[in-house]
Parts: sequence; C-alpha cells; structure tokens
Amino acid sequence: MQHDVVIVGGAFAGLAAATYLGRARRDVVVIDAGQPRNRFASASHGFLGFDGSAPRDILATARQQLATYPTVRVIDGEAVAAEATGGGFAFTLATGETISSHLAILAFGLRDRLDPIPGLWERWGKTVLHCPYCHGFEFSDRKLGVLWRTPMSAHQACLVAEWGPTTLFTNGADLDADAAAMLERRGVAVEPARLAEFVGDGPQMTAAIMEDGRDVPVDALYVSPYSTLGSPIAAELGATVEDGPLGEIVTTDAERKTTVPGLYAAGDIAHAPHSVSLAVADGATAALSVHRALVFG
Ligand SMILES: Cc1cc2nc3c(=O)[nH]c(=O)nc-3n(C[C@H](O)[C@H](O)[C@H](O)COP(=O)(O)OP(=O)(O)OC[C@H]3O[C@@H](n4cnc5c(N)ncnc54)[C@H](O)[C@@H]3O)c2cc1C
Repeated sequence: MQHDVVIVGGAFAGLAAATYLGRARRDVVVIDAGQPRNRFASASHGFLGFDGSAPRDILATARQQLATYPTVRVIDGEAVAAEATGGGFAFTLATGETISSHLAILAFGLRDRLDPIPGLWERWGKTVLHCPYCHGFEFSDRKLGVLWRTPMSAHQACLVAEWGPTTLFTNGADLDADAAAMLERRGVAVEPARLAEFVGDGPQMTAAIMEDGRDVPVDALYVSPYSTLGSPIAAELGATVEDGPLGEIVTTDAERKTTVPGLYAAGDIAHAPHSVSLAVADGATAALSVHRALVFG
C-alpha cells in the first residue's frame, strides 16, 4: 500500500505537518523515534500558548489532538533506511516493516555536539543553553557566559549581554580588533585563558575553572553547538546537505522542497535559527507544499 505522505520525525515540525495534512484528509504515516531536540530542558519557552510547558507535554497534547484525524497513523519507531522507488519512497523501520508513500517530509531534527570540556554536557538544557530567547529570561541579571566557537560567538556575546553581565570565554582563540572593540562597547568581559572545566552543584553552574587555576563565576553559559542531522536518510535519498554556521542543514527552497523531487524537509534540519515556533511554522509550510503537489501533481 502506498500512502500519500510519510513524515520521518514526529516532534514539532513533523506533528505540525501531520496536523495540516490530516485536516486535508490525506493518508499520512508519521514515524517518530521520540527524541525531540529539547528533551534535555524541563521547560520550553516562547511557544505561544505553551510558554513554560515541558517539551514532552507539548508533544503529547499535539499527538492527542492529531488522533482526531482518522487518516493519520503515528508509529513509534525509527526509520533506519530509505530508498526512492520511482513513484515515491520506501522507508524501512527498525522492526523490518516497510512503509511506502508518494511524497515524504523529513523532520528528524538535529543532534548536538558540544566541545569536550568537562561539565558542559551534563548541564545541557539546564545551565548550558543554546538560545537566550528560549532560556535567557530565567537567568536575567545573573552572571552569564558565552563559549567561543566561531567568530560569530562575539556577536552572540553582545546579544546575550542584553540579559545580564556577560563574559566571553575565548578558550585560547584569538579575537580580532573589530570584535574586541565591539565587545568593549557592549561591556562584555573577555576571558582569554583556556578552560579546564565548568563546576557547580548538580545541574547548577557556579564557575568556570581556567587551566591556569583561576575560577571565574558564571551561572549560565551559552554555546553554539555544531549540530549534525539526526539521521543519514536525507543523504541516502540523494538530498543535498550543506554545512551552515550552526552545522548541517538540508538544502530546501522556500516551499521546503529538497533537491530530490517529491522529498521535503522541515524544522531544524531545514532552517536556522532554531525554535519550537519556527519548527512548527516550517512543518506547516512543508505540509501546504506537499498538499499542493498531491492536488496539482
Ligand atoms: C537544550 C535545548 C533547549 C531548547 N529549548 C527551547 C525552548 O525553550 N524554546 C524553543 O522554542 N526552542 C527550544 N529549543 C529548540 C527546539 O528544541 C528545536 O527548534 C525543535 O525541537 C526543532 O523541532 P524539530 O521537529 O525540527 O526537531 P526535533 O525536536 O529534534 O524532533 C525530531 C524528531 O525526529 C525523531 N527522529 C530522528 N531520527 C528519526 C528516524 N530515523 N526515524 C524516526 N524518527 C526520527 C526524533 O526522535 C525526534 O522525535 C531547544 C533546543 C535545545 C537543544
């Protein structure tokens, strides 16, 4: 049996796409491995109507509402392989089951990679943060840090300073004169020494310990992780994948068509910046394009 659409990844972008297509009475299968990117945070902020809700609660509500639409099936599982079949696509689940469709939306999200500095990973989503719009308010006027990864980190530090006194930890990287002047104008402190570790009680952070033995007080640290696609399926299907400033991104046009006919991508894998609101909007955009393609060919 060939379904209208398979959606790989059923979190924010994928469930938004499924909701639109279910409302259009299309035959949709969502395959979801249940690991949304923000699962490390206890609360998600900034999504209208759900500000401060737990990420998995938002998704549970979305799934409950999606169950209203009889043409949508959600499978808890992982798509481990995919191939183009001429008239569409076939996805193989870890169980061995194969699901085929005319069109497909990839919404499988990103995997974050953090610098291997001790004390970062276990605080990811708690006091090690990716985005001040998502978590900055909760750390207002506290001691904030930004970890250097690219020259854009100086801009990030100037932005983060909006929320409190900020230190840019360059971890030994060189700052150019323009960046140094911009940071000084914004009142951002620069800590040039190499980092040994971040410490604190459990998920809390209290200080950065420098390799020279000094400690610099910090309550929350912003990082720009280098993120990779959550699944090799896009590349397996021949879609172009680019290397962007935040990591890998599937090339799409404004309608979220990839470079492979009939294959769409939505959410964090298709655009930056990254947030729940933007991923939901992206899923809806992809669904509208897919529906037009189903109707008009
Ligand atoms: C720590 C942290 C905190 C954040 N906090 C906020 C916040 O407060 N507010 C906010 O707006 N944004 C926040 N974000 C950003 C937000 O999490 C992302 O923008 C959003 O999750 C993107 O949604 P998505 O649907 O594109 O991808 P994801 O949420 O990553 O979902 C992808 C889904 O696809 C599934 N999947 C992957 N591979 C497969 C496969 N092969 N087969 C089947 N399923 C698969 C995954 O298991 C997952 O369920 C945060 C991000 C991080 C890292």
